[in-house]
Amino acid sequence: MGAVPMRLNAYPPSDRWEDWTELDSKSWPRKVEKRYTIVPTVCFNCEASCGMLAYVDRQTLEIRKLEGNPHSPNSRGRVCAKGPATLSQVNDPERILWPMKREGPRGSGKWRRVTWEEVLNDLGARVRKAILEKRFTEIMYHVGRPGEDGWMQRTFQGWGLDAHNSHTNVCSSGARLGYDLWMGNDRPSPDFANARYILLLSSHLETGHYFNPHAQRIMDAKLGGATLAVMDSRLSNTASQATVWLPTWPGSEAAVLLAMANVIIQRELYDKEFVRRWTNWEEYLRNENIDPAFPNFVKALKGLYAMYTPEFAEDESGLDRRKIEKAALDIARAGKAFASHVWRNATSGNLHGWLVARAIFFLNVLTGSVGTVGGVLPNLWNKFVPKMPNPPAPQKVWSELLWPREYPFTHHEMSILLPHFLKDRRGKLDVYFSRTYNPVWTNPDGFSWMEVLKDESKIACHATMTPVWNETAWFADYVLPMGLGPERHDTMSFESHASKWITFRQPVRRVAMERMGKKTTSTLGANPGEVWEEDEFWIELSWRIDPDGALGIRRHFESPYRPGEKLTMDDFFGWTFENGVPGLPEKAKSEGLTPLAYMRKHGAFEVAANEYEMHERPKEDGVEIEGVKRTGFATPSKKLEFWSKTLADWGWKEYALPTYAHGHVHRSRIDASRNEYCLLPTFRLPTQIHTRSGNSKWLAELSHANPMWIHTKDARRLGVRSGDLVRVETEIGHFVNRAMVTEAIMPGVVGCSHHFGRWRVEERGNDRWLSSLVRIEEKGDGRFAMRQVEGARPFESTDPDSRRIWWREVGVHQNLTFPVHPDPLSGMHCWHQKVRVVKAGPADRYGDVEVDTRKSMDVYRQWLAMTRPAPGPGGLRRPMWLQRPFKPAPEAYQIP
Ligand code: SF4
Repeated sequence: MGAVPMRLNAYPPSDRWEDWTELDSKSWPRKVEKRYTIVPTVCFNCEASCGMLAYVDRQTLEIRKLEGNPHSPNSRGRVCAKGPATLSQVNDPERILWPMKREGPRGSGKWRRVTWEEVLNDLGARVRKAILEKRFTEIMYHVGRPGEDGWMQRTFQGWGLDAHNSHTNVCSSGARLGYDLWMGNDRPSPDFANARYILLLSSHLETGHYFNPHAQRIMDAKLGGATLAVMDSRLSNTASQATVWLPTWPGSEAAVLLAMANVIIQRELYDKEFVRRWTNWEEYLRNENIDPAFPNFVKALKGLYAMYTPEFAEDESGLDRRKIEKAALDIARAGKAFASHVWRNATSGNLHGWLVARAIFFLNVLTGSVGTVGGVLPNLWNKFVPKMPNPPAPQKVWSELLWPREYPFTHHEMSILLPHFLKDRRGKLDVYFSRTYNPVWTNPDGFSWMEVLKDESKIACHATMTPVWNETAWFADYVLPMGLGPERHDTMSFESHASKWITFRQPVRRVAMERMGKKTTSTLGANPGEVWEEDEFWIELSWRIDPDGALGIRRHFESPYRPGEKLTMDDFFGWTFENGVPGLPEKAKSEGLTPLAYMRKHGAFEVAANEYEMHERPKEDGVEIEGVKRTGFATPSKKLEFWSKTLADWGWKEYALPTYAHGHVHRSRIDASRNEYCLLPTFRLPTQIHTRSGNSKWLAELSHANPMWIHTKDARRLGVRSGDLVRVETEIGHFVNRAMVTEAIMPGVVGCSHHFGRWRVEERGNDRWLSSLVRIEEKGDGRFAMRQVEGARPFESTDPDSRRIWWREVGVHQNLTFPVHPDPLSGMHCWHQKVRVVKAGPADRYGDVEVDTRKSMDVYRQWLAMTRPAPGPGGLRRPMWLQRPFKPAPEAYQIP
């Protein structure tokens, strides 16, 4: 009685962000007030790009905490553990604060501090010389987490180079090709929140692509009564929350999905009207010399998929046929409100993995759930990239080190094959920029990476741009410290839900300084030490490459407001927000702000919401549907391509329809009597960030090892208990890890998270929170052995927590023992491994790794032999309509 009704606010009101006072939690029970200026920014710890608010102490300019930004349309104020943990990365006592140059042989671990001036002059002169001498393909930029949207395309197209290399073919090339062939967009945008049935081939509730924004919408749907089905060989945290878990043998997923399609087709439960209007069935029938009448297609469809019975799928996958049939009927019942998603997972594990994306999207096509409320939208309907000032023209150069003729359909660059191509003398690099990327650790066959990175005849200069130490940085000539999420400018947008939005990442201390009247001209100086932001680095470097503007490069890095003067961050983003984001100027004006000031204040803007059925919109040059020209889809037929004429024309007609093919870990290839298993090495943990969280003490304490999951029955057969050491033998070597015996993985399958197993060869070279000190022995003839000398242990630093490290084992680096497995179409590295698992012998120690890189070259050649090289029709390197990052000019597609 008498209590005052109170409303708790989750966030301070945005009109008080500039000057916000609250009690300091650490001073409890004393009541000490702290004054902050709250600056919005964007998390950089995974691709989801959740909005964050940085609480910057007005007195010290220290960031005191990071929370979710409620104005961010994707994340709606929520973040995962990795977002706030950014603070531990900012304050990491081990972080790289100054640019450094190597002394002595590459990889020998001797460094000297240098100035940014020295770095810019040296790299600028090298790139300039390469351009003047027309060695256009000798400059390469290899990126892990991009964290930007368009800036690097401007940069390299401004330089006239085909220089962009990505991490995509260790990540998502497989799914991308499957989706792209259907709709001309390489990603789905599932409208999870409104779905009645959700089918995931991913672990979206814990880690999946665009994890937090998607997870919260999946949970919204589930709380509203939607069914959640998860197909995964492993009982992931996501599968444990599902209504239905569908465990399948790795690589059999397309068979199960096509069996579901077949149930729907044979019972004619599909949306015939949608299929008739929006798939290219006529084109298919004509190609088969069948009269193009829809009843003929209905008949043909039944014949084409009749073999995919639930019984067949059960034999392939081990999943009960009744579960397959029930899921099919439930999906048919959900109709237009059926949302599905496959990303990484099976598409990234298996030879022909891209067929899984073809098969799952087939279910959306059959149910008419494409572009609908609760269905799946093409990703470009929901992703917004703003117009930018003075954009360069597409490059006229084609790099065959990145886009070799053998892989005309590869969805991104053949990044995993760079060491093999360099060893095969297909080219060399003068300047190799690796940026927020660690191929030595992340990619398969890391010892081959070390071999080429040490060889200056193959890579003359390696500059790594990174916020953290990593295994690849050890083999660099320059280590260039780059900003973390709250230390840089970027715009971000992606398909989190049925909305188009843009968010603004900001260097928060710089913004705080400006708010308090301290004028800044660069982010250098606002960040700790000499940590810089990349946009400003690239502007400076571009001016060094083309100091007088004669090469036509400099003009793309000049102010749109003050011709001839250097571009600033305010210029670039000011122009972009004024001219490139519809509706933003008006919205800003309504608050009495410029568009830039609006974005600096709120950090986010929603461009359009709830745009469904966009393919139906009338469009003059669209596709004619029953007498009306409509927008359609981004394929050659402007329809959803059930039959891919492109694949047929380029010599892959057996895959032109959604189909299934045995992969490299098909059951028939695994002999249990020889202790052979299928290893799933791909899964993420919710509290790690690939190779970038070694500098977070908070995340390291939460999880730090990657034991090998093995089913109870298999463990019993091997005589192995949880914690015992096992030796896992691959095609090119072996690793030794601890077993974790569980019923949460299928018998015959073993699993090991790709997180952990970070290492360093000296005290320096990787953050000690989460790396072991190792000794590498070069045994000659391409044979290497790695042994852990010690795991994590307490160390002295400015942070007293470093003396409190209680964990010791920090995982095993399994990727070193994998050869490359490039899918001949998508180019995706097929991660799953056929392995032999035995109890460790007396000489084996935790973390041991042995590899033979000559064997890895043999495996590379075996997989290369599966390709069907360009030229395709018209003498092209690649079908021109397929998506390609940093798309070159049409003439570059022509093989001379
Ligand atoms: S999901 Fe977590 S790590 Fe990823 S952007 Fe959001 S807060 Fe950051």
